[in-house]
Amino acid sequence: MTIHEAESGTVDGTDEDFRARLRDFLAAHHPGPPPKEPEARLAWQKGWLATLFDHGFAGPSWPQEYGGMELPFARQVIYQEEYARARVPGPLGTGLGIVAPAIIKYGTAEQKQRWLAPMLRGDKVWAQGFSEPGAGSDLPSLRTSARREGDVYVVNGQKVWTSHARIADVFFTLVRTGAPDSRQRGITYLMIDAHAPGVEVRPLRDLTGGALFAEVFFDDVRVPVADRMGEENEGWPLVRTSLGHERAAGAMNQAALYRRVLTELEELARERGLLQDALVRDTFADLEIRVRLMRYNAQRTISDILTKGEPGAASSVSRLLVTAFEQDLHEFAVDLLGAPGLLDRSAPLAVQKARWLNGFLRTRASTIGAGTREIHLNTVAEQVLGLPHDPAMPPR
Ligand SMILES: Cc1cc2nc3c(=O)[nH]c(=O)nc-3n(C[C@H](O)[C@H](O)[C@H](O)COP(=O)(O)OP(=O)(O)OC[C@H]3O[C@@H](n4cnc5c(N)ncnc54)[C@H](O)[C@@H]3O)c2cc1C
Repeated sequence: MTIHEAESGTVDGTDEDFRARLRDFLAAHHPGPPPKEPEARLAWQKGWLATLFDHGFAGPSWPQEYGGMELPFARQVIYQEEYARARVPGPLGTGLGIVAPAIIKYGTAEQKQRWLAPMLRGDKVWAQGFSEPGAGSDLPSLRTSARREGDVYVVNGQKVWTSHARIADVFFTLVRTGAPDSRQRGITYLMIDAHAPGVEVRPLRDLTGGALFAEVFFDDVRVPVADRMGEENEGWPLVRTSLGHERAAGAMNQAALYRRVLTELEELARERGLLQDALVRDTFADLEIRVRLMRYNAQRTISDILTKGEPGAASSVSRLLVTAFEQDLHEFAVDLLGAPGLLDRSAPLAVQKARWLNGFLRTRASTIGAGTREIHLNTVAEQVLGLPHDPAMPPR
């Protein structure tokens, strides 16, 4: 029996039965610790995603038609809780949470068949090519161009901060097909083969020393018209779906993850005899309240997606809560640990392989990626509080 049969009512278990089945599955198929070498690590991660997919445990919110589980609300929450608890590898690339909802909504039947299942199974890694050196918050000013020649587009330009570009097979990309000053009226959504001639990926190093993101250059790259989603020059509404889901995507998953991480920090503080300090206890209490708020808000975001089809402004609230939380949590951890907390993982006295220092450095960028803090504050101001629209942003 697959999980689909179980969830479709052939076996009418309770939510707690579902939790137990999922927990057993994750424990029984756990892929073990990650290999150190990057190629082997990628294969390990892909192998895990294929195992999930093949057993019907991938894509909790996805339609079953494309290999997902199409779970009701309560089970999506349980899924994320158990997934975080099990310490198994997460998704590869950024496609699942960002472009997939747009493909499900706007893709043709043929595109859905061709793109969705291989993305969910991890056979193809998708990365987001939206930002450019001159177009971040103000995305409608993007300049990467696509010129139509028969049944292909010829793409030229540059993207930047493309996360997971080095392992990507497909870039879901915004290009200009209208006049240079056409802003959001001249944008087209193209899926570009990352291995096509003329595509060049140049890794960028970040504060942690890693190179998760990259610059991507397109030099006369030929892209079949069949790989365009939506109509030419009409990509902007599709972008809005992608961005809304980008902001909502990790909310429940991160709330569940940080529930576990906060407990791990408490255990570390207890081992080191730091919990007698009143200020330390006060901060832990504050973080505990915030991690619970994150969970409730993430639940609201999932509920909005299920009832309205789009996450709406709750996704900005989620993003603001999560990013402030993860920065404060890691800053507190580094303060708490004193000098050893500042040691790099190669130092013999480094605490837990420097995970807290690494988290501190990594999360500096959290309030920039997936929309800056200021842009999310603007969204909340306008869409929740009803304040006037920011004239610097494109009309809604
Ligand atoms: C870790 C990380 C991963 C990323 N991954 C990807 C990815 O995979 N794909 C991708 O396409 N992009 C990615 N990005 C890029 C990210 O989307 C942009 O950095 C972000 O949108 C901000 O754009 P910008 O860097 O050009 O800054 P700008 O937009 O130039 O902003 C500069 C400053 O001005 C402020 N500002 C701008 N406009 C306004 C306004 N109207 N009101 C108030 N303040 C404003 C901003 O808040 C910011 O403080 C990533 C970024 C990071 C940090």
